Amino acid sequence: MTDPRQLGFDTLQIHAGASPDPATGARQVPIYQTTAYVFRDADHAAALFNLQEVGYIYSRLTNPTVAALADRICALEGGAGAVCCSSGHAAQIMALFPLMGPGCNIVSSTRLYGGTVTQFSQTIKRFGWSATFVDTDDLDAVKAAIDENTRAIFCESIANPGGYVTDIPAIAAIAEEAGLPLIVDNTSATPYLCNPIAHGATLVVHSTTKYLTGNGTVTGGAIVDSGKFDWSASGKFPSLSEPEPAYHGLVFHEALGPMAFTFHSIAVGLRDLGMTMNPQGAHYTLLGIETLSLRMQKHVANAVKVAEWLENDPRVESVTYAGLPSSPYFDRASRLYPKGAGALFTFAVKGGFDACVKLVDSLKLFSHVANLGDTRSLIIHSASTTHRQLSPEQQEAAGAAPNMVRVSIGIEDPDDIIADLDQALATATA
Ligand SMILES: *Cc1c(COP(=O)(O)O)cnc(C)c1O
Repeated sequence: MTDPRQLGFDTLQIHAGASPDPATGARQVPIYQTTAYVFRDADHAAALFNLQEVGYIYSRLTNPTVAALADRICALEGGAGAVCCSSGHAAQIMALFPLMGPGCNIVSSTRLYGGTVTQFSQTIKRFGWSATFVDTDDLDAVKAAIDENTRAIFCESIANPGGYVTDIPAIAAIAEEAGLPLIVDNTSATPYLCNPIAHGATLVVHSTTKYLTGNGTVTGGAIVDSGKFDWSASGKFPSLSEPEPAYHGLVFHEALGPMAFTFHSIAVGLRDLGMTMNPQGAHYTLLGIETLSLRMQKHVANAVKVAEWLENDPRVESVTYAGLPSSPYFDRASRLYPKGAGALFTFAVKGGFDACVKLVDSLKLFSHVANLGDTRSLIIHSASTTHRQLSPEQQEAAGAAPNMVRVSIGIEDPDDIIADLDQALATATA
C-alpha cells in the first residue's frame, strides 16, 4: 500500500494497518488468537526484549490483530503512533501514566463523560495524582489553574453528554505556551468529524467501545500520539526523558524520538499495567471501523432531524445540540467540526425528573442503556444513572441536570425515531 497519509479517510478506514496475511493470503485481518510468538533463536529473543528489533513477544504487549487496529486508528487521527487497550477508561490511565507521578496534577474540563469525572476526581487520588476542574470556555481560568505540578490539560472534543464543543485550538495554544501536552478524548466526535491533532492536541484518547466499533459489541480504548511533543524540553516528564529504571535504563525520548510515548506505553504501560485489548475484541472494532464515515454521516443527519423536531415540540423545554443554530456552540461547531456536531445531545422535558423517568420507560425503539455510539438509538437519564455519583453542581456543570435526558441518535429511519419520541413524550407529559 502507498503511504497511508496520502489516501482519503474512506480508504484508510478500510485499508490502513492491514494487508493480506503473508502466510495465507487471508484478505480480512485474521484473529491472531495466540498468547505467545516463537523466537527464531536466542539472539532474536534478546533483540526483541532490548527493543532493538520490533516484533511480537507476548500478547499482553502486542498482538498482530490489535496492532492492525492501532495502526488504522493512528492513520485516521493523523498520529505518529497508537496503542490499543482494554477500554476507554484504561486509555485515559494509560495516557496519563507516562506523564504523571505522585503530587502531579492535570487541568481538566468540567464537561466530561460521567465516569471520567469520577476517575479524575476520586480514583486517581490513590496514585497521588489529582485533577483541577475548570470551565474550558473560560480561557483565563484554564491558564490560572496550571501550576508547576501540572503535567497535562484534558478535554473532550464534543463533550458527552451536554452537546458542548471544545475550542481545541484555543486550549492547545494555552498548553503550548505552558509547555504541556493537551490530551483530547475524541470518542463522541470520532476522527471522521474531528482530528484533534490537526488542531494542536498532543495525545488523543478513544473509547473504541462507541462509534469506532459502532454496534455495541466490545469495549476497547486507544491512545494516539501526535509525535510532536518535546518530552525532554522541561524536565517534567522523566519517564520519557530520563533513564527509565523499569526498562533497564532506556531513555525513551532519546532512543525513539516521535515514537517515545507509543513505545513506553507498550514496553512499560501495557507490560506492567496489563490493560490489554484482546484480539477478538480488536477484530470486531476493525469490522466496525470500515464503515465509520458512512455511519457518522447518517448519525449526524438523523441527529439534526430529531433535534430540530424536538426543539419545535411544546413538551420539550430545550435541546442542547451544537448542530442547531440556537446553540451557543453552533458557530464554533461549524468552524471546527464542519462535517457535523455528532449525534449525542440532551434535551430537557417539561415535568422534570419524573417526566424524564416516564419518558425513558415509555420508549419502544430506543434502548435504555449506559452506552452511546451504537447503530441503535439509545437514551439515558444521566442524573439517575451515569452521573448519579456526582454532586448536583457537578451534574449541572456536566450538562446532566435532573430534567435532562441524553440521547445517542442511531442510524434507523429518522421518521421512526421521531414517532417513538412522540408517543413516549405523550405518555410522559400526560
Ligand atoms: C464511554 C466513554 C469513556 C469510557 O470508555 P469505556 O470504553 O466505557 O471505558 C470515556 N470517554 C467518553 C467520552 C466515553 O463516551
